[in-house]
Amino acid sequence: MVEGWFGGEGDAFRLLGTRCSACAAVFFPREDVHCRNPRCAGGELVEVPLSRRGRVWSYTDGRYRPPSPYVTDPELPWEPYALIAVELAAERLVVLGQGVPGLGVADLAVGMEVEVVPGVLHEDAETVWTTWQWRPTTGVRS
Ligand SMILES: [Zn+2]
Repeated sequence: MVEGWFGGEGDAFRLLGTRCSACAAVFFPREDVHCRNPRCAGGELVEVPLSRRGRVWSYTDGRYRPPSPYVTDPELPWEPYALIAVELAAERLVVLGQGVPGLGVADLAVGMEVEVVPGVLHEDAETVWTTWQWRPTTGVRS
């Protein structure tokens, strides 16, 4: 589902995008076929790790089960989460993701610095599905 969208362990965890060798545009989710810049003749698309930190651009309460490709077990109670759009200045990208568990919209403000961390999307007896989550760098207010 999200093969190749992120990688690395612990502090080395990063989202992975692709960058066009001709126009330097960065894509996330990764674009591996054609540069999406309409003014670009097309270059080679090379995988690049994205900035670890960004700033909250907007956020909302995720009160509903996320749509495909997210895996959720309809038998389990749904835990609401903060859904955060984070602006990565260097890449000029806005990346959507869940907040870390326990982070609510009351803990968030536009412009707050957050960093990407690995999180568990779903797990069963055999498999843990990993995703990325956003965590404020200043700590979560309680
Ligand atoms: Zn390009």
